[in-house]
Amino acid sequence: MVRPAYRSRSYKRIWKRTPSGETKLAFERRKKIKHKCARCGKELAGTPRSHLEQRKLSKTEKRPERPFGGMLCHRCLEELIKSAVRISAI
Ligand SMILES: [Zn+2]
Repeated sequence: MVRPAYRSRSYKRIWKRTPSGETKLAFERRKKIKHKCARCGKELAGTPRSHLEQRKLSKTEKRPERPFGGMLCHRCLEELIKSAVRISAI
């Protein structure tokens, strides 16, 4: 019996050939992850596109190294920083 989580149909079932020559059932996520900006919903650049890819990367490769990197897109961050500075200057 497979792991309970794999019984969900959100996993694709794929037959894969192992190095020994056997074909075995493998489970893969159907949906690719798409990281989106928390403010505008735009797809984020510099973030991995799949779970498999994400697992292999180091922390610094998973999102941009700036404040709110991986949370907000560069445009939203720019606007928020500008507005924060302008409010504090008054
Ligand atoms: Zn945004």
